[in-house]
Amino acid sequence: WKNAPPNLRALAMFGRMYGEREFMIYDDERVTYAAWFQAVAKLAHAFREHGIAKGDRVALAMRNLPEWPVVFFAATTIGAICVPLNAWWTGPELAYGLSDSGTKLLVCDDERWERIAEHRGDCPAIETVIVSRCEGQPEGARRLEDIIGKPNDYKSLDTMELPEVEIAPEDDATIFYTSGTTGRPKGALGTHRNLCTNILSSGYNAACAVLRRGEKIPDPVPKKGLTVIPLFHVTACSAGLMGNIAAGNTLIFMYKWDPIEAFQIIEREKVNVTGGVPTIAWQLLEHPERKNYDLSSLEAIAYGGAPAAPELVRKIREEFGALPGNGWGMTETMATVTGHSSEDYLNRPDSCGPPVAVADLKIMSEDGSRELPVGEIGELWARGPMVVKGYWKNPEATAETFVDGWVKTGDLARLDEEGWCYIADRAKDMIIRGGENIYSSEVENVLYDHPAVTDAALIGLPHRELGEEPAAVVHLAPGTQASEEELQEWVADRLAKFKVPVKIAFSHETLPRNANGKILKKDLAGMFG
Ligand code: ATP
Ligand code: MG
Repeated sequence: WKNAPPNLRALAMFGRMYGEREFMIYDDERVTYAAWFQAVAKLAHAFREHGIAKGDRVALAMRNLPEWPVVFFAATTIGAICVPLNAWWTGPELAYGLSDSGTKLLVCDDERWERIAEHRGDCPAIETVIVSRCEGQPEGARRLEDIIGKPNDYKSLDTMELPEVEIAPEDDATIFYTSGTTGRPKGALGTHRNLCTNILSSGYNAACAVLRRGEKIPDPVPKKGLTVIPLFHVTACSAGLMGNIAAGNTLIFMYKWDPIEAFQIIEREKVNVTGGVPTIAWQLLEHPERKNYDLSSLEAIAYGGAPAAPELVRKIREEFGALPGNGWGMTETMATVTGHSSEDYLNRPDSCGPPVAVADLKIMSEDGSRELPVGEIGELWARGPMVVKGYWKNPEATAETFVDGWVKTGDLARLDEEGWCYIADRAKDMIIRGGENIYSSEVENVLYDHPAVTDAALIGLPHRELGEEPAAVVHLAPGTQASEEELQEWVADRLAKFKVPVKIAFSHETLPRNANGKILKKDLAGMFG
């Protein structure tokens, strides 16, 4: 381990190794691995000159731009803790992240700076602000381009070494905020080892899947990955960015998710892998203009982060011929804990896969007192080197969630005989109707199976005697029709009567989602008056 420590400094050195290979493509900006490493080293020295030392927080608030991975590695390779902030957040939300993390140096893009500037006074720990893509001179801040230049010019930077800093695998590396689906976002404090674990896991899992299919392990040819989900979530950063760097792949970023633009990029750049969250896969699949593009280079469409209807995996295989993949994880586990693809996934379309080699799973009773047998639904607990230390400056929530190395996930799930995991619902979303449990995903999946339904969410409505009753919000494919009664009958033909939604509302738009593709269920109750 001495020569191959699991830390992000070692991973950054891969940039040297892959040299002139293409690292990043964004519009007409292209950055090679060597050029990226030069920019990382240069910015790391600049951070040191601004007084950034081990353990200091460096926040990163920007869209998926080529400078994102430069800032991330410049901070973490000198032992600072990088705090990626949600680019969808408003000014006050960003200010919350900055003050909660005690950020000392902030790097943001022009658009974020416009939102943060007036709240700077609420974040007294901030000493330096560096803004990228700013037309003029930002007030009270430096321009990133004045330090490292523009992405196309990284190649002309002098070759430098990273500043000398000792980093142990257990040192803090990141604070990622949870999506805030069930409450205020919590900062998950991750170590260098947590982040590196994912790289090993995904490689090992992919190889096992090939073995199960009885195929030959393919030669390591660099792949092109279209990264359309935001890097400020662990899925894109850890499973996407880290994994691609380890493999020497090329990453392609988009300014903003747009299916047509994605088709154009896939055709032009011959993209091999894309996905991220189930919504993205649906949108690629169902877009009427898909057939006008040559998407034959696509080998895999993988996603996670939110429930995926079994219908999706079948369609991807039929329509694209590409390998579908699904993985389960959470911010507290630095992404992937379970995952499977291809035949494994097609055979178990309602599962998110078996645990990765280094993870253990168990299903516990609601009160956490006993482990439940195979097949029973209870709370999913996960353990392994990817589980973070705890929540930043939140000892109560940490003590509640992290127990003896296990993280209590808050998800309800079951395991089958062979260890494959099936997520039923979030504990907080499960509906209890007069003592009967109703798991959202079971009912949502039946609705998705209806030919007209393209988006569905089950929520609980308060009921005086029963406590709660299930209701659904659906979105229908353009040009199709289905009535409330018809959909209720559709569910009643397939599931027990108590699971049939008592009301079904129709949404003209696709359902509201957060940046990570999760339906915002708490915003839907209003549709029932
Ligand atoms: P918060 O904890 O702040 O309420 P969050 O749990 O949505 O927000 P994340 O850490 O981004 O924040 O998401 C983790 C959750 O996403 C899991 O607990 C699970 O409910 C859901 N999830 C992740 N992957 C999958 C998957 N493959 N299938 C179903 N659900 C998934
Ligand atoms: Mg959560």
